[in-house]
Amino acid sequence: MKYVGAHTSASGGVQNAPINAQNIGANAFALFVKNQRQWSAKPLDDNVIAQFKANCEKAGILPRHILPHDSYLINLGHPDKDAREKSYVAFLDEINRVSALGLELLNFHPGSHLNQISETECLDNIADCINAALKATSGVKLVIENTAGQGSNLGYKFEHLAYLIQKCEDKSRIGVCIDTCHLFAAGYDIRDKTAYLRTMKEFDEVVGYKFLAGMHLNDSKNELGSRKDRHECIGRGSIGEEGFRCIMQDPNISDIPMILETIDESIWASEIIMLKNMQKEG
Ligand SMILES: [Zn+2]
Ligand SMILES: [Zn+2]
Repeated sequence: MKYVGAHTSASGGVQNAPINAQNIGANAFALFVKNQRQWSAKPLDDNVIAQFKANCEKAGILPRHILPHDSYLINLGHPDKDAREKSYVAFLDEINRVSALGLELLNFHPGSHLNQISETECLDNIADCINAALKATSGVKLVIENTAGQGSNLGYKFEHLAYLIQKCEDKSRIGVCIDTCHLFAAGYDIRDKTAYLRTMKEFDEVVGYKFLAGMHLNDSKNELGSRKDRHECIGRGSIGEEGFRCIMQDPNISDIPMILETIDESIWASEIIMLKNMQKEG
């Protein structure tokens, strides 16, 4: 079974995200658990938490199909120790918010070396933060997102994700999220069945399907290997519908949140229907 939704707005409070998901016919969703462009926020109040849980229940959406996304400011690979510590503290706060909401996953971008340290040093910084965060918290799986490789962002190769998993001391609490736009922009082709199967075989060999904890379903404005992070609506970009049909018919993908971050939220409901229909065509 596939669980498809979108990154819904939590404007007015996180309790609104499940309502917004239900309104577009989603059975999964993503949200920010605090303002994604600010370092700090006041703790979630008990009333908001209770409403959030009640609204998820009303929408019939389970915690494991909800994929919170952390703040864009966080860089766990930051070359500067103080800046990295600031990111780590913010990351811990995100995990604790996710936990307070009764959720099980936190999606984050690995980090950037800012051209000041090597890729390996940066990955080691990230791995240290992951291990410290796992020790300091409980119950939440950290879900590393692959990137397009724009700027100095790591996570654009399966090997980066595998390196972080390999260094992680509690493998039951680490997973990955594949963003299809980022995947394609990073040079992994998924435009037709042959390309899709080749890419996912490589993913399985290097990372492993068993670590796949979520997906972001986005078409790409830019070409294969462009290293640019520009999302497009499903079927209207350089990936095209066939790539998404392959995903929706992949028997190795089930029971994980599959989240649209496409650029026109007014058509999310129809994108969800389109994706669910692709699944049936199999
Ligand atoms: Zn994404
Ligand atoms: Zn993106």
